Amino acid sequence: MDLEFDRKHIWHPYSSLINPPPVYPVARAEGVRIFLEDGPGLIDGMSSWWSALHGYNVPELNQAMREQMDKMSHVMFGGLTHEPAIELCKKLVEITPPGLNRVFLADSGSVSVEVAIKMALQFWHSQGKPGKSKLLALRNGYHGDTFGAMATCDPVTGMHHLFAGQLSQHLFAPAPQTPFGETCPDEDIRELEQLIAQNSEQLAAVILEPIVQGAGGMRFYSADYLRRVRALCDEYDLLLIADEIATGFGRSGKMFACDHAAISPDILTLGKALTGGTMTLAAALCSDRIAEGICNGEAGVFMHGPTFMGNPLACSVANASIQLLLSSPWQERVAAIEQQLTEQLAPLKTAPGVADVRALGAIGVVEMREPINTVKVQEALIERGVWLRPFGKLVYAMPPYVISKEDLSQLTSAMVNVLGEVS
Ligand SMILES: *Cc1c(COP(=O)(O)O)cnc(C)c1O
Repeated sequence: MDLEFDRKHIWHPYSSLINPPPVYPVARAEGVRIFLEDGPGLIDGMSSWWSALHGYNVPELNQAMREQMDKMSHVMFGGLTHEPAIELCKKLVEITPPGLNRVFLADSGSVSVEVAIKMALQFWHSQGKPGKSKLLALRNGYHGDTFGAMATCDPVTGMHHLFAGQLSQHLFAPAPQTPFGETCPDEDIRELEQLIAQNSEQLAAVILEPIVQGAGGMRFYSADYLRRVRALCDEYDLLLIADEIATGFGRSGKMFACDHAAISPDILTLGKALTGGTMTLAAALCSDRIAEGICNGEAGVFMHGPTFMGNPLACSVANASIQLLLSSPWQERVAAIEQQLTEQLAPLKTAPGVADVRALGAIGVVEMREPINTVKVQEALIERGVWLRPFGKLVYAMPPYVISKEDLSQLTSAMVNVLGEVS
């Protein structure tokens, strides 16, 4: 592979073209292994950023794409429809929390967040309350890289403060502190409640990642907190947007993280694992009330329509992925991964440089006290045959659900050895 060309000419996510960090050439991927061009297979601990639930080169998913390709890879969604989209939207309505009956198919997670925000604003406009146009987001949140989504990311720890002047100004509440599994005391939600009470005339919605804050800190928080946010939204007439782009499809131990609190948001965003890590596709679902409000409004339509909306190839592989997930013992698998991560990462709790070790569902997180040398740590992990992508103070694993006990043991022992040495 022409890695020299890559270094000079190709942007990678959040990368420099002057001093690019190493990128490793992948020849193929199979099961839970990523095979480098001239190396052994690395055990994948990232699921390619939450997406490859079933691992790689999955026969059922390949088959679905092959069959669909022979019929049509794509047709426009304006004025046309097709079976893969209808089947997918039916399934999404069925498996997501109750009341989310209307589906907008988008191209990527960030775009589905744009769509969700636009739904909220168009809804309030239609209700004769165009002043309700601001969002209340949580610190440590992450909702994507496009401008609307960026404006809801944590303004301090987020990666977007450079653009602060160009972004819509929203309100931010402190990140929830109550750990998962505990009851939320009043003081943990007080500031959020005050912000809502004081600004309800300007607020369209609360936007949050339920239970698991992902790229903004890999934090897990109380289902009771989430339940209370839902109640406050109802009390003050705000919408709740749940961004489940990372947590959707079982990652936190429930099919959707909202299920831990038994709540339904007004708008839900999905992405990442939607196609089992094969193609880019996302969705924003909303309730009947929101959809009907929007369509009874001045515009009479929802004002969005991407070129590749409802791409049949992506929809068909999403259908196959959801079917594969539902027909698998995913809940047992995720619970077993949680238990193994909890037990096997525990030795790091007392390691000198480690601030915290936590696991929820198929997510294991080691938080260091100081930012680590991510390039060096990654190199050391690769030497031990595993693929992880640490950032800042965080080294975390979210493997495909199909990972074997042995492979997961190799993954966690690599983390324990490398991070033990770092500290
Ligand atoms: C990844 C992510 C996004 C953005 O999705 P992209 O597909 O990268 O645009 C938004 N919200 C959350 C919670 C995410 O994890």
